Amino acid sequence: MFLEENIYLKPLTTFKIGGPARFFTVLKNFSDVELAIDFIEKNKINFFILGGGSNLLIKDEGFDGIVLKPQFDYVNFFEDGIVVVGCSKSMPELVFEACNLGYKGLELTGGLPGTVGGAIVNNAGCFGFEIKDILLEVSALNLKTQEFKIFKNNDCNFSYRDSFFKNHPEWLLIEAKLKLEPGFDKNELLQIMQEKIEYRKQKHPLEYPNAGSVFKNLLLENLKENIIEMAMEDNVVKGNKIPAGYFIEKANLKGRQIGGAKISEKHANFIVNLGNAKAIDVLNLIDLIKEEVKNKFEIDLELEIKIV
Ligand SMILES: Cc1cc2nc3c(=O)[nH]c(=O)nc-3n(C[C@H](O)[C@H](O)[C@H](O)COP(=O)(O)OP(=O)(O)OC[C@H]3O[C@@H](n4cnc5c(N)ncnc54)[C@H](O)[C@@H]3O)c2cc1C
Repeated sequence: MFLEENIYLKPLTTFKIGGPARFFTVLKNFSDVELAIDFIEKNKINFFILGGGSNLLIKDEGFDGIVLKPQFDYVNFFEDGIVVVGCSKSMPELVFEACNLGYKGLELTGGLPGTVGGAIVNNAGCFGFEIKDILLEVSALNLKTQEFKIFKNNDCNFSYRDSFFKNHPEWLLIEAKLKLEPGFDKNELLQIMQEKIEYRKQKHPLEYPNAGSVFKNLLLENLKENIIEMAMEDNVVKGNKIPAGYFIEKANLKGRQIGGAKISEKHANFIVNLGNAKAIDVLNLIDLIKEEVKNKFEIDLELEIKIV
């Protein structure tokens, strides 16, 4: 295990914000994992598992513990549609490879950043798809108790942008088994993937560093009748949800800026880093949004990004 000290996490996140990790190490194999567990126990320090860093806001003071960056990024496609993939595999790479081999099931996630592990933790999804739809099982190691376990789909407690792992950050996700459908026309799949990438370029402020949607969309079942009626009149209800960005925009917050952070003009549920944003700028914008939306609509927005 190669241990580094005071490593800036900023470049390892899509937000390009945040202070240093006191310790940092890349986990390339099980021996690295064992040594990391040993180090954590001996030094009694906190740990954080970093995937693609696409859903995180790292605080300006950084992380006072060890950041573990697993690097298990192999993938094997089997003839029956089973895909066995290391949880550090980049989603964009996996999606391209699956489509290119004619394996259907991931094409709607074209342009979704991050790793397979991060996608499972968040039950990431888009256009009606969620990673839970294709996950058969995932193996994981509890870094506190050293228990190794294979979680079947049902054990993962998936719900909208949530899973068992989100509330149990001591589990290191290692390998996932997915079920795709082989034998499809690769050009059709690649075209769908590319359309989704283009859609994101049009709708999302990808010209600036960001961490995706800041808040979760709102489930109709949790909203009052008058709010649902208002959203229906404005034609913004999507399936069983109302986009959080709708309320942020309606509270006239689009374009609001604090320091180097700004609520995107293009998509109100994105906060962008104009270049030199501090985490505190983003946190202040988050507080402002929560307060204004609460005052105006009596709605409590829930964070989708994770603050570290
Ligand atoms: C431009 C943009 C667009 C986005 N669009 C979408 C979208 O359409 N839908 C959507 O759902 N999300 C979206 N996101 C958010 C983000 O891409 C996803 O949540 C993604 O799945 C996070 O994966 P990651 O590897 O980057 O995780 P990270 O941000 O690194 O980490 C997220 C969480 O997962 C944990 N984690 C990561 N890897 C492991 C592992 N191997 N073992 C245990 N825990 C792990 C971390 O500890 C952390 O708690 C978007 C983000 C951006 C920047």
